[in-house]
Amino acid sequence: MAVAIFALGLAFGSFLNVCIYRLPRGLSVIHPGSTCPNCAQPIRFYDNIPILSWLILRRRCRHCKVPISPRYLIVELLTGALFLACYAYFGLTLVALKYCVFGFLLLGLIFTDAETQLLPDKLTLPGIVLGLLFSLVVPVNDLLSNMLFGLIYQPAASASNPWLSLLQALIGAAAGASFIYGAGAIYLRARGVEGMGFGDVKLMAMVGAFLGIRLTIFTLFSASIVGSLTGLSTVLVVWIKRTRRRMVRHHESASEARRHGWESASIALRRFPMPFGGFLGSMAMVPSFFGDQFFRWYGRLL
Ligand SMILES: [Zn+2]
Repeated sequence: MAVAIFALGLAFGSFLNVCIYRLPRGLSVIHPGSTCPNCAQPIRFYDNIPILSWLILRRRCRHCKVPISPRYLIVELLTGALFLACYAYFGLTLVALKYCVFGFLLLGLIFTDAETQLLPDKLTLPGIVLGLLFSLVVPVNDLLSNMLFGLIYQPAASASNPWLSLLQALIGAAAGASFIYGAGAIYLRARGVEGMGFGDVKLMAMVGAFLGIRLTIFTLFSASIVGSLTGLSTVLVVWIKRTRRRMVRHHESASEARRHGWESASIALRRFPMPFGGFLGSMAMVPSFFGDQFFRWYGRLL
């Protein structure tokens, strides 16, 4: 069973690779069949087997011999691992299906954002709808919004009431979208450049619809921590490298080299497009499996 589910994940990963390449370019994901991105030759079915073809053809197109991006292999393996993890955690249940769908969409968005800085509507908008639909069959059962409704409803009532669960998914979607919209507005005011786009707003609406408000807040906080740490370490690495180079090549004094190095580092930070959608997407993946454990641990800590 596990092998079959892993193979199914690989096949979906293979399809996801097509989506990652074609959706940002406005191409259809169904027609025509797979072609080489370089020479546009159709890829035959026997050259399109996940992992195996990549290894047999030694990472090159059969026709033009141009290397194929390792992303194809990475996305296939990650999707296979995702499906397997959902099965291991939740068994053959609707919950497993829900997190397979959610993770599949997130993987597509993370890699599209990394390659093109775009979060295609064709992934986020159906994602929002799917998240809301899944809330009807898999209870969101969100403690925080249960507390909000505690005056009217019994806690954890959504476990037995699909409409309450849908309401919680709607609240999650609205909260995710408005938090990121607010953060984007503050960022624009503070730095004068656009940090977040409407793609991120739709991404967080989708995350909210799948996870509910509590785990959405968890996603936003952890993504901003990971994002800040990445930005900070980028600045530090550039600063140290430039300072050293200036001291060696330009024979500057240590303090002068440090000052010039700092200037280059801050320019690098401004120019470097932060893949914030990628951070949000990655951190949204975590609470699918570990969110409840985290809050139990956090609760004990308090
Ligand atoms: Zn080719």
